[in-house]
Amino acid sequence: MPLLEIKDMVVGYGRIEALHGISLTVEEGELVTLIGANGAGKTTTMRAISGVRPLTRGTILFDGEDITKMKAHVRVLTGIVQAPEGRGVFPGMTVQENLDMGHYARKFESKAAYQETLDRVFELFPRLAERRSQVGGTMSGGEQQMVAIGRALMARPRLLLLDEPSMGLAPMIIQQIFRIISDINALGTTILLVEQNAQQALSRSDRAYILETGEVVKSGPGKQLLADPAIKEAYLGVA
Ligand code: ATP
Repeated sequence: MPLLEIKDMVVGYGRIEALHGISLTVEEGELVTLIGANGAGKTTTMRAISGVRPLTRGTILFDGEDITKMKAHVRVLTGIVQAPEGRGVFPGMTVQENLDMGHYARKFESKAAYQETLDRVFELFPRLAERRSQVGGTMSGGEQQMVAIGRALMARPRLLLLDEPSMGLAPMIIQQIFRIISDINALGTTILLVEQNAQQALSRSDRAYILETGEVVKSGPGKQLLADPAIKEAYLGVA
């Protein structure tokens, strides 16, 4: 049974239909990427999974359970956690306070469980441990992205949703963020990633789906898609 299974999902904004019936699965432990041009429907797909955008038609199953009508905050408790964009970090709060906000969903857990989760986040992001007292707003774009991902990890996701984590970052920082994404996945967290940076994303993904104008037009193992001439031309800037 897949961890996430989307069947024939239609999502619209008013009378505009953004997704025309997409189906996809994410298996436990996988790193799966959605690739597509601007307006293809990647963000809408993420919003539907996290529960902030209702479906017009179709179903979403999480761990076999129908969550199509489940409220967004309940989905977080079941383990579907979306990292905010780097700019979604609370600018006036310290790194530590930002991370604690992520753990809010787990507030009834023991102090030991909190400490263990925090230790894991600091292991992945030593930079955040060094900067734990610095306020979010004064950190670099890359560091803020780390805080955003760290904050999501504090909720101990079973499925981590990442929407363009490399957006607006310098090439060297992008490399670092992608390495960390691979590390998080290697440590056992299932990830659904949306990325414009197709080269990096495909080379690190188990599988990927190509979205075009609200439909899945192709899917397969990341490395296979990376070698596909049509994908190379459309998404990798290689004629
Ligand atoms: P980008 O990379 O530019 O974020 P995307 O693949 O994430 O693109 P979406 O943002 O999901 O694409 O948009 C899919 C379609 O839905 C587009 O045609 C877009 O114009 C439309 N859309 C998105 N958000 C809204 C909204 N709030 N109101 C109306 N239409 C919207």
